[in-house]
Amino acid sequence: MTATLIDMRPAPLAAPAADRPSLIGLDRDGLAAALADAGVPERQVRMRVAQLWHWLYVRGASDFGAMTNVSRALRDALAARFTLARPEIAAEQVSADGTRKWLLRFPARGAGRPVEIETVYIPEEGRGTLCVSSQVGCTLTCSFCHTGTQKLVRNLTPEEIVAQVLVARDRLGDFPDAATPAGAIVPAEGRLVSNVVMMGMGEPLYNFDNVRQGLSVVADGEGLALSRRRITLSTSGVVPMIPKAGAEIGTMLAISLHAVRDDLRDELVPINRKWPIAELLDACRAYPGLSNAKRITFEYVMLKDVNDGLADARELVRLLKGIPAKINLIPFNPWPGSPYECSDWERIETFADVVNRAGYASPIRTPRGRDILAACGQLKSASERMRKADREAVAGA
Ligand code: SAH
Ligand code: SF4
Repeated sequence: MTATLIDMRPAPLAAPAADRPSLIGLDRDGLAAALADAGVPERQVRMRVAQLWHWLYVRGASDFGAMTNVSRALRDALAARFTLARPEIAAEQVSADGTRKWLLRFPARGAGRPVEIETVYIPEEGRGTLCVSSQVGCTLTCSFCHTGTQKLVRNLTPEEIVAQVLVARDRLGDFPDAATPAGAIVPAEGRLVSNVVMMGMGEPLYNFDNVRQGLSVVADGEGLALSRRRITLSTSGVVPMIPKAGAEIGTMLAISLHAVRDDLRDELVPINRKWPIAELLDACRAYPGLSNAKRITFEYVMLKDVNDGLADARELVRLLKGIPAKINLIPFNPWPGSPYECSDWERIETFADVVNRAGYASPIRTPRGRDILAACGQLKSASERMRKADREAVAGA
């Protein structure tokens, strides 16, 4: 099988009802307020929130008309004020290895033009992982990362974070069919999206509030119900936000380490100049709830002749001593114009041997979806920050 590109552009969804706010991504209080606003009497609000929550997140309803246990009058009132429309899918690509990538288009929300982000689905034996974006572009400039070449356009909203999961489940046929009775329990096994990783475009800890709210919807046990143990948030090392992430988001944590010496990490992951390795690892040691069953993942991209020596491998193992950790060696994924090469396979295996001998199992991450630029670090969209002249034109309009 070869990679396929399905261009969805000729048939965009009806212009998303941009003037109507969406109910997707609200927390229960937000949803309650929206229902009260639509005229639902106060004594009914709780019950209606539970009903809607079920339709939105268990059944995956994308229009109010499907909600058969909600009165016609209320459905109409909701439809007049709100939307459940999915973002436009600008393109869908399927890799030869089954990895899928969606280019999603969201409204401008003040950034000038509509913005685009990428979401990737990686099917594996026994699990399906969705790689979700948190920002359009990134403020950070890690030298090996394609997203890092795209300036931050804007943060994604909780709605847009949750919508990535909904679109993936729509497109994968991963919602129970409409005949599923209300209140049905969705089995945890056999689901096509079983894990979420915040490893797409952007630095999630620089969009903290929206990521927290979006992930709380994704983790909600009466809705999408992905356990926090199956959600991993990856950070380049925003040290002051790590304890807050542990306390308020409570998912699994991954750290983009990539170097074991500050001089090299300063170059590869420039946020290191602010918060160097020792401080980063202290924050990791203090991450709540760590145990052998709940470990931090340390990501380490394999760059030829840059960070892939035996001494680096030994130092890595030494540095992580005492932290319940998994090590993930990521073969570097090239992108157009990237300044590095991936380490030779032999080098990666030698490095992995050192890591293995220290007790870390299967540390090499198989590259997936490289043929459609869907692998780690290859995501980038064409969205750009509005030019000054455009901003002024909009402001003056
Ligand atoms: N901003 C967050 C999450 C997104 S990046 C972070 O940096 O952690 C997800 C992972 O892919 C990170 O570990 C990142 O360092 C890694 N990555 C970036 N570019 C890569 C590339 N070209 N090849 C392999 N991995 C890359
Ligand atoms: Fe941003 Fe992460 Fe890429 Fe660094 S690796 S530029 S933090 S997305």
